Amino acid sequence: MKIKRIRAYRIDLPLHEGTYKWSGGKSVSVFDSTAVEVETDSGVVGWGEVCPLGPFYLPAYANGVRAGITELGPHLLGEDPLQLGKLNRRMDAALKGHPYVKSGIDMACWDILGKVTGQPVCILLGGRYGDDVALYRAISQESPEAMAQLVAGYRAEGYTRFQLKVGGDADTDIERIHAVRALLQPSDRLVADANTGWLMHDAMRVVRAVRDVDVYIEQPCLSYEECLTIRRHCDRPFVLDEVIDSVDVLLRGHADRAMDVVNLKISKLGGLTRTKQVRDLCVSLGVAMTLEDSWGGDIVTAAIAHLAHSTPPELRFTSTDFNSYVTVSIADGAPQRVHGRMAASLRPGLGIVPKMDVLGKPVLEIS
Ligand code: MG
Repeated sequence: MKIKRIRAYRIDLPLHEGTYKWSGGKSVSVFDSTAVEVETDSGVVGWGEVCPLGPFYLPAYANGVRAGITELGPHLLGEDPLQLGKLNRRMDAALKGHPYVKSGIDMACWDILGKVTGQPVCILLGGRYGDDVALYRAISQESPEAMAQLVAGYRAEGYTRFQLKVGGDADTDIERIHAVRALLQPSDRLVADANTGWLMHDAMRVVRAVRDVDVYIEQPCLSYEECLTIRRHCDRPFVLDEVIDSVDVLLRGHADRAMDVVNLKISKLGGLTRTKQVRDLCVSLGVAMTLEDSWGGDIVTAAIAHLAHSTPPELRFTSTDFNSYVTVSIADGAPQRVHGRMAASLRPGLGIVPKMDVLGKPVLEIS
């Protein structure tokens, strides 16, 4: 089987809440997502999606996805989409770095592999554990009262895990954490995610002030070394996210006991093939994981569901259903949240059918 054509579609994904805000005053109100269609010479078509969290979160931006596919695409024509290891090596040989550019193409090839073998992607990724996976809800950075109100609302919808966007003013962040934890049940999980936003003195004050609160601290500072120092002064469970972008740093983090949980984002690592590699290593090392992506619509959410559902439950800290945050649906068959949980499709591949009327005309085509 050979790749015959690659197309990309640009979709705007507005948010139900209007705006999503996190550390350092960063915010997005309409996400710019790219759906990637990989067509084969046998007529089988696979779909992927890449949606950076704006241009200022990771070294990734929406136009970069499209520019990168324009650069990379011609090197992939004639390649076999079923040989995913080989295909990823081809992508790395043709374009150094830029993992997020490769993510949508790799995801689409997993969709093709599933369709050709008649298997859901979760089976191909290792197996389907249990009936569904627990989700967290990310809570946009607002006043402590407003964030508590949002958490109460999402809790009523069935979520039991919450990720507060902190990484702002340290005193306000301390209030945010206390205000939200006060309304949760003991079995609910709360994460305070600073998204690299605190300087070390702020982070030190926050972890000290919440030492009696049942809360996880996620990526307090920008660098690995800063995070490691905070970790050594913090007795709360500790999550690393933005710095975990390769096998190397995962192994270093494990050796340093720098974290209890890592956050794996499909596009940060360069697609499902690379994320599976890191996921499987985490399983072997006993490191729990948040399995997700930077953002996305129905296709990304389907890919997250397959990745999470194929991860042993005791290593699966949480995941999220980005398609429920946005007002536009780009595909049928994507997971739909039920009582704060979602399940991967039982259909072959990712199990989604894109809505071509929503995707419109392709913005680029390589053939
Ligand atoms: Mg995070």
